[in-house]
Amino acid sequence: MMKLLITTVSAALLLASQPAAALKVFACEPEWAALVAELAPDANTFTATTVYQDPHHIEARPSLIAKLRKADLLICSGASLEAGWLPVLLRQAANPGVQPGQPGNLMAAMQVSRLGIPESLDRSMGDVHAEGNPHVHLDPERLSQIASVTTQRLQIIDPDNSSQYVAAYDRFTERWQQALQRWRRQAQPLQGKNLVIHHNEWAYLNEFLGTNSVGTLEPQPGIPPSLGYLAELNSSMKNTDVLAIVRKPSDPEKASQWLAQRLNRPAIELPYSVDSHGAADLFELFDKTIALLIAAQAKTQ
Ligand SMILES: [Zn+2]
Repeated sequence: MMKLLITTVSAALLLASQPAAALKVFACEPEWAALVAELAPDANTFTATTVYQDPHHIEARPSLIAKLRKADLLICSGASLEAGWLPVLLRQAANPGVQPGQPGNLMAAMQVSRLGIPESLDRSMGDVHAEGNPHVHLDPERLSQIASVTTQRLQIIDPDNSSQYVAAYDRFTERWQQALQRWRRQAQPLQGKNLVIHHNEWAYLNEFLGTNSVGTLEPQPGIPPSLGYLAELNSSMKNTDVLAIVRKPSDPEKASQWLAQRLNRPAIELPYSVDSHGAADLFELFDKTIALLIAAQAKTQ
């Protein structure tokens, strides 16, 4: 009897001293890992892609499947951005908690209003995404909505740490709202300026900054431009005042350099996500992005 009691007590002590296993997060893109770092700083987050990879085209490697199998939360852009690889991962990982419809499956773009939703699905137009443009993370306002949904999901998945998630969300939101004011102020000289973009991943940033996209280097999403297409784009820009030709780190440089020389305007690579151009977190991502565009704008004066 005594022996049994001692065993029970030591087992209870052992349990009490054991730290709770860290929440495991699988982030498809670095921007979502960065958001989780703000909202669940103790989580163990794996990021499937870097900013130097094109998230449209990723190989469903066994190492990714193994990581997804153990995840408590899957966070991705969604809206078909990962359509070429995520469904395979989900099937192979067979992790019930992160399947579509579960709280552990968070598709960020599906939580906010999206640009570029086609009015009708006409297959003759090529590969049209019914869900609209998935590249939502470059709008800081949508990001704050996504932060709220992410916090709700964290509370559902890990209720024991609910109050910690709320506290982290409050801290993040306070800093984010201050940064939003600053970014709006800094971006004022960019209002109405024209950008030529490589691919339509800048639509949400344009909306936030008040900039326009007046041309796309890719004739269709994912299709590299031919010289003929570029020449046509160049002549169509003759009467347009272009601030810069913008690309992300994973875009090839050549087409934007070609057009930059013809238009005598700078071709600039923007960070696009964290871990590029020295942007260590989401705050620095917007700081650096706006600073690079302002520098281009300052040179035109
Ligand atoms: Zn895209």
